[in-house]
Amino acid sequence: MHANRPPASAAPRSAGPPVPRFDVPEADAFTRPYWEAAGRGRLLIRRCRAAGCGLAHHYPREFCPRCWSEDVVWEEASGRAALYTWSVVHVNDLPPFGARVPYTAAVVDLAEGPRMMTEVVGCEESELRIGMALTVRFRELDGARPAGEPPLCIPVFGSLPGAGPEAVRARGARSSSLLPQGDDGGS
Ligand SMILES: [Zn+2]
Repeated sequence: MHANRPPASAAPRSAGPPVPRFDVPEADAFTRPYWEAAGRGRLLIRRCRAAGCGLAHHYPREFCPRCWSEDVVWEEASGRAALYTWSVVHVNDLPPFGARVPYTAAVVDLAEGPRMMTEVVGCEESELRIGMALTVRFRELDGARPAGEPPLCIPVFGSLPGAGPEAVRARGARSSSLLPQGDDGGS
């Protein structure tokens, strides 16, 4: 015997208000190049060009956080980093993070110097080591942008096979190329 099916109105799963999500950054005119680059798989940082400074920083600011110069430009980072610290998150009530637990919230030191909050993906907790070499990856956020627009991508980090912290430091000693000054993003 089959149980009676409940009436359709008993389970209005898709009829409620849209569930808010807390994983979508708000891009403004200043940070637009950063998010456009991330959508193309490139991680941008900001670098001061003032004489005697040259500091690279992240998150992006319009002024150098050390010398307050406005002569600060976008620069493509190597994507290499070393793990500074981490915390495995098992409970997060903010959607959609609750569906992703456990995940590894982390702080990494980019090879160019800035420290960055991010997430480490593809690594078991037992594999994590302070100073371990990481490389940037990009997570596409499903449904964060209307259909037809470029996807919104978030930089996360995964392990870099065969490279220890020393390799990251050696790599970071080389300067990255500056991006062209023109905005190739249009509009
Ligand atoms: Zn500076």
